[in-house]
Amino acid sequence: MAIEGRCMKCKAQKVMKVPAKMTKTSRGGFMAKGNCSVCDCGMCRIMSKVDAEKAIADGDATKAF
Ligand SMILES: [Zn+2]
Repeated sequence: MAIEGRCMKCKAQKVMKVPAKMTKTSRGGFMAKGNCSVCDCGMCRIMSKVDAEKAIADGDATKAF
């Protein structure tokens, strides 16, 4: 399952390049950070714990927290 995020440059939902980096926010949430697969612009997406763990297990994101 690819991680999608809002790309500010494409102004659309785009798939993140694999692997994205899974980080934790100061409030304990999960956030995937990566680059747009189309334009390589930096992008991020707030993830639920379930989705974050799944993305790491699937190899779509590396654990960076
Ligand atoms: Zn883009």
